Parts: sequence; C-alpha cells; structure tokens
Amino acid sequence: MKNVLIVDDSRTSRRVLRDILERAGYSIVGEAVNGQEGFDEFVRLNPDIVTMDITMPVLDGIDSLRLIKKANADAKVVMITAAGQKHKMMEAVKLGATEFVAKPFVEEAVLDAIGRC
Ligand SMILES: [Mg+2]
Repeated sequence: MKNVLIVDDSRTSRRVLRDILERAGYSIVGEAVNGQEGFDEFVRLNPDIVTMDITMPVLDGIDSLRLIKKANADAKVVMITAAGQKHKMMEAVKLGATEFVAKPFVEEAVLDAIGRC
C-alpha cells in the first residue's frame, strides 16, 4: 500500500486524516507541522503521496509545494484547502499540485482524491 506524509499545523486535522487513510489501508510514514518540516520530511522519507495544508506557520503549503516539486517534479502532493482559498488553489495548480481536498474532511472525498494520485 502507498506511503503518505501528512503536513498540517492542526493536530486535529492530522489525526482525522490519519484515521481515514489508515482505515483504507494507507501507511502514514510521517507527520509534519509546518511547510519547512514537511519539505524536510519529504526529502528524508520519499513518500508516495503528501497531503499539504495551505495555511501553516514558518513556511506555508504553497511554498512547501514549490520546494517539493523543485526537488522532485513527479511528487504527488494533495493540497488541503479551506474556504476562501481560491487564489491559493490556482497558485497550487500552477506549481503542479496533484489533487485538492477541502476541509472539513469528508471521508469519501479524501479517499477519492488520494486514490487518483
Ligand atoms: Mg493550517
């Protein structure tokens, strides 16, 4: 089964995503709490898929996505979005984001997006 790295500054979001993905058989290989840690863990763990929150301290999800795609153009990054982030979503598309999942999480939508990666 595929390995997933979860990048999100919200402990609750990380736990909900982990629960949904583990129930579906995915292996969570790491969690990171900001975009810089997310990039570092991406390089260290080389996961199949990254879930990337957008609004985070230190380095946001857009800048982290940019670093990840520069390091590996084939990286599969699923952006986690909240209401009112259309502009950020368009930026993420340009940078090569693979999929989008909206918060609050709907299990089926999460699994659909991850499954398409
Ligand atoms: Mg956040």
